[in-house]
Amino acid sequence: MKIVDVKAYPIRIQNYDDVSSILEQFDKGRKDVSDQSFGGGSERPPIRDLGDHFIDETHHTSIYSKFHETTVVRVETSDGIVGWGESQSPVSPNTTATIINDLVYPLIINADILDVEAIWHNNFTAMRERGHYTGFYIDAISGVDIAIWDAIGKTFKLPTHKLMGGRHRNSVKIYNGIGGRDPKKVAEMAEWSISKGYKALKLHLRETIEGTIDIVSEVRKTVGNNIDLMLDVHMMFNTHEAIKLGKQLENFNVYWLESPSDPNDIPGQIEIARSLDMPIANGEWTRTKFEMREIFEKRAYDISMPDIARTGLTGAKQIASIAHLYNIPVAPHVGGGGILSVASTVQFSIATPNFLIMEHSEQGNKMKSLYLSKPFEPKNGLFPVTEAPGLGIDIDEESLQKFLLKPSV
Ligand SMILES: [Mg+2]
Repeated sequence: MKIVDVKAYPIRIQNYDDVSSILEQFDKGRKDVSDQSFGGGSERPPIRDLGDHFIDETHHTSIYSKFHETTVVRVETSDGIVGWGESQSPVSPNTTATIINDLVYPLIINADILDVEAIWHNNFTAMRERGHYTGFYIDAISGVDIAIWDAIGKTFKLPTHKLMGGRHRNSVKIYNGIGGRDPKKVAEMAEWSISKGYKALKLHLRETIEGTIDIVSEVRKTVGNNIDLMLDVHMMFNTHEAIKLGKQLENFNVYWLESPSDPNDIPGQIEIARSLDMPIANGEWTRTKFEMREIFEKRAYDISMPDIARTGLTGAKQIASIAHLYNIPVAPHVGGGGILSVASTVQFSIATPNFLIMEHSEQGNKMKSLYLSKPFEPKNGLFPVTEAPGLGIDIDEESLQKFLLKPSV
């Protein structure tokens, strides 16, 4: 069961039908926010179109791709078993692929797949002294970790969750993520999600406090009180504004407020969490248990959101176990992750006692599934638990080749 080959495939899939309308939407949001939150007036430069990518500088938030981009990892064993994983790479998957091909390959070639946690630890420490304890490098070793867990499952013809501690539930509850700026249109998307069987929704909003409340109020009025409603504001606010927003949101029975402020400001996050009755969900950017210690010890937020394609299954299991010590539930982030991210998160969710709910995109699932040999989709807001080996999906290698990005170096 030795690893005899490792390959990383940077891929890009056309994501949006109309990229210009997406850019326009972000631009309108920018003007409102710069007026209220940052006091910059309307003189700030508009969103910068970077060709394949774009960035909204006035939100001080992330660079985004106009495409679905990620890095798919293939590990082959001496028994001819192939395991698949994914390193989330929403911008520059070539960087992640280069790290895997040049750096991780020699570290793991000839390793026994059953040494999976030792492999994770050795990969982590191999570059720690040089400062690579988060970001691209950890994404790279996480995709490899997922591929190894898939290979272990396929070797023993068992689903990965059975080998990671076993089954804690018979299905995995998911929520659908939706966005937009017009309250009526967002409410329509919410109704559409409910028609697909979802009982929980998350709104991605980049609005002023007033604009946020307008949309939440319209959606709550439309869906009624039996639907769980979460809100992700993508680090838009300072501590004071986040508390002001949160107090108003409490009138609308919001299940959690996510990423309210600067993730580096742990004292500010503690203040937000203490000031509000509603739970604060956070943590999609942290990748290892080492980053989580202070956050959990100080209870900087109430719900932990590890992203399995950034932590690996091994890293996520470690984070979830420590969260459990502090009675903190885990709601895994998937965001822009591809289908291997989705499938590995389902396995993690089944095997995690303090799992709460998993992120999903009903709208994005078909596009993410273009390189599968058969569909992998939820029903009525749930992923079923199956006995399929490994991650429970089959990659169509020929289809995958269609989305390969050319190497940049
Ligand atoms: Mg988020």
